[in-house]
Amino acid sequence: MDFSPTPIQFLFEDENRNRIYVKREDLLPFSFGGNKVRIGLEMLADLKQSGCDHMIAYGNARSNLCRVLSNLCARENIPCTILSPADDDGTTVDSFNQRMCLAFGAEVVPCLKTGVRDTVEAALQRSRDMGRKPYYIYGNSLGDGNLVTPVRAYRKVWQELLSQQQAMNLHFDHLFLASGTGMTQAGLICGQLLDGGNTAIHGISIARSQDNGRAHILRYVRAFMQDEVLSPAIDFVDAYALTYGRYTDAMRATAASALRLHGLPLDLTYTGKAYHGMLQELRARVIAGQSILFLHTGGTPLFFDKLGEIVE
Ligand SMILES: *Cc1c(COP(=O)(O)O)cnc(C)c1O
Repeated sequence: MDFSPTPIQFLFEDENRNRIYVKREDLLPFSFGGNKVRIGLEMLADLKQSGCDHMIAYGNARSNLCRVLSNLCARENIPCTILSPADDDGTTVDSFNQRMCLAFGAEVVPCLKTGVRDTVEAALQRSRDMGRKPYYIYGNSLGDGNLVTPVRAYRKVWQELLSQQQAMNLHFDHLFLASGTGMTQAGLICGQLLDGGNTAIHGISIARSQDNGRAHILRYVRAFMQDEVLSPAIDFVDAYALTYGRYTDAMRATAASALRLHGLPLDLTYTGKAYHGMLQELRARVIAGQSILFLHTGGTPLFFDKLGEIVE
């Protein structure tokens, strides 16, 4: 399955003569698109490469990765188990992603964020007891051991981006994206380290603090580059992060306006936060006359979860 490249579309010129473009990863033509299609494909390839036959994922009810993985597995008849933690406040929400996971036949096992390690180990053991060879997407029960696989996805997209800029006779001065686990941003940073290009990459945190986010990205980059002392510049902005899944009315208004003015769907957990953060940062950093790329990382089902709030 190779759907690249995804379209890059011009959106508008702002009051400081910045030209804003968007790369539509949300239009990847499988399971409602998004960065998790690319990352999920790398994980599925790695499962097969490792000779495994049972996908074990971890993600909450809103997880786009779990939707994509369960869809990929359904298509190939690979059993898929999703360990699904409650939110920090102990609640779980209903969502289109969750419903699709169930519709694709994934086994959803509720768990607590505090007991991840035990939950993962129990799931792996149960799978082995059934005579299967389980593949845990994050490697071992501590969440390391498989840092390289997801990074590969956006390391490849960096190459795609370089060719697209060449074909469009355009150079992006800045790239903004929603950054969560950091797998996507780490991939772009590795691409830049390996293939060059001086676009400034700005991750807008959707949950983590700057220190925590940076540390995770650095861990991915170092693992991928096989260089434990490498220290690339990592811009990870936590000024808009709030708590995972929370948003302000200004973010909601930005999503409403992007939909009205550009027909661009932005969800309120990831891309709406990041797009809003990008517009704020362009002003705060007094960026003018530059070419700006927003990487639309997807989340279409989350957009529809909140449509009622976005358009009020
Ligand atoms: C997962 C996700 C992100 C964040 O990607 P990471 O690689 O986890 O940083 C951004 N946007 C959407 C829509 C996502 O599903």
